[in-house]
Amino acid sequence: MIKKRKIAIIGAGISGLSVGYYLKKNKNIDLDIFESTSIPGGVLSSERINDCVIEWGARGIRPSGKGEITLQIVKEIGIFNDLVFSSESSRKRYLYHNGKLNLVPFSIQSIIKSPYLKLIISSIFKDLLSKSVNSDESIYSFFERHIGQKSTNLFIDSLISGIWAGNIKTMSVKAAFPELKKREKKFGSIILSQLFANRSNTKSQFSKKITSKALFSFKNGMQDLCNGLSDKLVDNISYMSEVSDIKIDKKIKINVNNKDFFYDHVVSTIPSYSLSKIVDLKLSKILQQFNYSSIAVYNIIIPKNTFNFDGFGFLVPSSEKSIVLGVIANSNTFIEHSSKFFESYTIMLGGERYSYDFLSKIDIRKISLQFLKKVFKTEVIVKEDSLRIIRNAIPQYDLNHYKKINKLEKLNIKNFHIGGNYLSGVALKDIIFNSRELANKILFNC
Ligand SMILES: Cc1cc2nc3c(=O)[nH]c(=O)nc-3n(C[C@H](O)[C@H](O)[C@H](O)COP(=O)(O)OP(=O)(O)OC[C@H]3O[C@@H](n4cnc5c(N)ncnc54)[C@H](O)[C@@H]3O)c2cc1C
Repeated sequence: MIKKRKIAIIGAGISGLSVGYYLKKNKNIDLDIFESTSIPGGVLSSERINDCVIEWGARGIRPSGKGEITLQIVKEIGIFNDLVFSSESSRKRYLYHNGKLNLVPFSIQSIIKSPYLKLIISSIFKDLLSKSVNSDESIYSFFERHIGQKSTNLFIDSLISGIWAGNIKTMSVKAAFPELKKREKKFGSIILSQLFANRSNTKSQFSKKITSKALFSFKNGMQDLCNGLSDKLVDNISYMSEVSDIKIDKKIKINVNNKDFFYDHVVSTIPSYSLSKIVDLKLSKILQQFNYSSIAVYNIIIPKNTFNFDGFGFLVPSSEKSIVLGVIANSNTFIEHSSKFFESYTIMLGGERYSYDFLSKIDIRKISLQFLKKVFKTEVIVKEDSLRIIRNAIPQYDLNHYKKINKLEKLNIKNFHIGGNYLSGVALKDIIFNSRELANKILFNC
């Protein structure tokens, strides 16, 4: 009889759950997952308030490209009927700029009508003539070279604030947009590369009706995905089980709630700052170099049509000098997440320019509501609200990102594996794709 390999995963956020899901497909392993809290999901967490679904972390996944891997899991774990898809109007995204909301062009027609038409035309010309640069550079310098300073400060700055709560001048383009940098090398122009890259020859196993949608979520929000995965791993997960020490040797010893356990392989999916506290000094020193931004997430439930707003939401470029990063009209995106009379909005504040302590001291509620009143020029009557200030919410991929990854790789530890969102992508589609790669590496190459 083949002796089963003992494998432990630390953390049951989406990274830990998805690595666990793929590892468990192999019958010759003995799998334990340790989670310090009482629920699966980590940052991904959904709640129902006044019958509206609100999210504290990710609110949707793109069904095309790498997102299809998640759809595949959704099918396999039997929650396909719980999927909900974003509405057509949620393709509309706005920028709050110069005191008003301006539609970001999303189709040829909307480009023609756009107040940014002149800027877009000059950016297209600049991009078509721009040359590729081999070395890594900041997101700012990459886009400034391709589309010019004005477009970069407006569109790219707010995009990076919205996804990463980050700073375009300090983040690495190669780490944050690895595909874009590769395509630049091949085509020079990023617009041309985008046109060619979108002509995918691989046939999707899902209908166009699904893959053409902007985003998908679930009836009860993203928590449904975590619950679906954790149901499949019910015999493997131990909750309220904090790993407090890791000793890496031929077998790895981990301490959980004052008890030692031994494993052939251990996978960490916890944030770098948590892992750095429980490993030896050499590894810890590298892990301490990864930085994160803190953000405040303020969810409000308000009577339907208070704002008569029709899009996904809007972003605020940093040139506006606002602490608000962006606002998401949740119920416009997933109509199923609103109730008969109420809908929810999420206001995101903070990011790379503000510390957790600062965010904890200021009156986020008051600032958010005053901001909404200024933007929509209407009084907001909040039925219910909920606020979380998330310390170290999103990792920042700075210009030394690959140097740190190289240092981790040079340690050449064969039986201790690191996953999670601080290495190769913060978006769920990247995390789940990377989890599959990591599980396959452990199963077939280690
Ligand atoms: C406000 C916000 C909005 C976002 N929006 C989007 C979006 O729209 N789309 C998108 O794709 N992505 C989005 N993201 C990013 C995405 O949600 C995260 O990158 C992802 O959920 C991180 O998952 P993870 O499993 O890597 O980490 P985590 O969720 O942090 O999971 C780590 C888990 O490990 C546990 N743990 C920690 N220490 C220990 C220990 N010592 N022992 C045992 N367990 C431990 C924790 O309790 C936690 O459950 C958003 C993130 C935030 C914060």
